Amino acid sequence: MVKGILFVLSGPSGTGKGTVCKKLLEREKELCLSVSMTTRECREGEIPGVTYNYVSKETFKGMIDNDEMLEYAVYNGNYYGTPREAVDSLLSSGKDVLLEIEPQGALQVKKLFPEAVLIFLVPPSMKELKNRLVSRGRESSEEIEERIKAAKWELAQAEKYSVHIVNDDLDVCTQNIIDYLNEKRGERRMIDKLINEEA
Ligand code: 5GP
Repeated sequence: MVKGILFVLSGPSGTGKGTVCKKLLEREKELCLSVSMTTRECREGEIPGVTYNYVSKETFKGMIDNDEMLEYAVYNGNYYGTPREAVDSLLSSGKDVLLEIEPQGALQVKKLFPEAVLIFLVPPSMKELKNRLVSRGRESSEEIEERIKAAKWELAQAEKYSVHIVNDDLDVCTQNIIDYLNEKRGERRMIDKLINEEA
């Protein structure tokens, strides 16, 4: 059985990772989203077990100690992470898996899975990034300034990713990601075919 590909969608807060991810999953039915675990509160409209698995800090820390997290990060005072087991079994059964995670986690994945495909979502401009953070109305103005500062550091890590895709127009951005996924799938298929070919 040929293993699936691990795709990681990441980028600074406010670049639209969540929206792009949703659109991508609507169009790419074969792609399996890994449901993350978090210690933050469930927000209105979110579905436990679908949006996230919501757990206590004790449970989360226990999973870290037992090496059950593929990656994790502390973000805004809460833990967020990818449970290892589900991802391993999906990849082993040949499914392609998508992680939608912030950049600290994405770089941990790259260390553990050098073959993972890391997609860095780029904002069209810093002004637009700020506008998006302001208009979603979740953070205070101090927090927004912190996010902008963090975004500059995160942008400086972009060279460690497989590809950079600008999220200016949602449909164009989603299509560019799908084209890239298909290119990577084609490359993997070609290599697997060669490995299994008689000389
Ligand atoms: P939110 O609280 O808005 O749902 O998510 C906050 C941030 O955590 C987002 O940037 C999101 O991409 C990131 N995130 C969600 N799940 C995970 C995860 O499993 N691991 C890491 N490292 N980040 C995550």
